[in-house]
Amino acid sequence: MATKSLASCIFCKIIKGEIPGYKLVETELSYSFLDIGPLSKGHALVIPKHHAEKMHELPDEYLADVMPIAKKIALAQGAENYNVLQNNGRLAHQLVDHVHFHVIPKPNEEEGLG
Ligand code: 5GP
Ligand code: ZN
Repeated sequence: MATKSLASCIFCKIIKGEIPGYKLVETELSYSFLDIGPLSKGHALVIPKHHAEKMHELPDEYLADVMPIAKKIALAQGAENYNVLQNNGRLAHQLVDHVHFHVIPKPNEEEGLG
């Protein structure tokens, strides 16, 4: 499966290094980086290098590559409590039309955004 990108897509641009992103982990098929508007300290995004808007449009090999990265990030953060979240479509709160998985640590109350 050839990697597909979209010139106007902000996440495709981050993958290509055309706009800055704080990279965490990269594989042949996936890329991960810190969210620019974190809901908690360490809020990360894991994305396929193939441009697809919604999860069901993504080839299985890309889908299979992202979850081990989400797991690796959660382990590295050492968070005992965290959410993995993935939105599809405006009614489901998707704002960026490139498939992405949020990894959101849930800090203790007193830690907040750190
Ligand atoms: P959605 O609501 O589409 O699931 O979430 C999109 C996420 O992408 C948001 O949490 C938002 O903060 C993040 N985001 C949007 N633009 C950028 C950007 O240019 N850089 C980074 N690192 N994150 C972004
Ligand atoms: Zn894209």
